[in-house]
Amino acid sequence: MPPRIAIAPCRRMPDYVESVRLAGGDPWALSYAADPVEAVVAACAGLLLTGGADVDPARYGEPRHATVTGVDVERDEYEIALVEAALAADLPVLAVCRGLQVMNVAAGGSLIQDIPSQVGTAVPHQVPEPKDAVAHGVSVAPGSRLAALMGAAVVAGRLPVNSRHHQAVRRIADGFVVTSLAPDGIVEALERPQARFCLGVQWHPENFVESGAFLPLFAGLVSAATR
Ligand code: MN
Repeated sequence: MPPRIAIAPCRRMPDYVESVRLAGGDPWALSYAADPVEAVVAACAGLLLTGGADVDPARYGEPRHATVTGVDVERDEYEIALVEAALAADLPVLAVCRGLQVMNVAAGGSLIQDIPSQVGTAVPHQVPEPKDAVAHGVSVAPGSRLAALMGAAVVAGRLPVNSRHHQAVRRIADGFVVTSLAPDGIVEALERPQARFCLGVQWHPENFVESGAFLPLFAGLVSAATR
């Protein structure tokens, strides 16, 4: 039986569902109302955290920058509780974009609230269309889980990725390590080495569902969830 992969509520669900299905998992699109956190963690074999709007900066003790948009207090509450429970249970976790940021905040880290005004960079991190357009390259740390999963797709230590985010990880949560950086030093992947499987990426691997370029990340999650 394919392992059941819980997918955090999201407005652009189809590519996540299809990616999990293609990787051999049984996708379970969650809703806040119907799926309390304890029930999700008890009934799923892995967790996929999805993209979306900005995490409330109050969650990491900062005042809100003028560019922060779309804060959804209910979603923050639900996903932070989900991450805490999943990490405590050592449930396999793959986190995408906002998901990476939520995971870092839930574990005690903080975020850059607005890359253009707080970092200033020539690297295009905000390329919304087409959704699978390559925006920039990222480094891949040798020996990381990311490197193991992506294999030969990593050429000369680099991987081409899409990008649509104006925020990024700032202070890294305890227990996590950076395994990918953009050329400007923006964090593009975090891993939790002591976990069974815990990987977060700042790009959108689910948008490559047609080419399958990033299917290995979803396959890694499903494989870790199968036992
Ligand atoms: Mn980027």
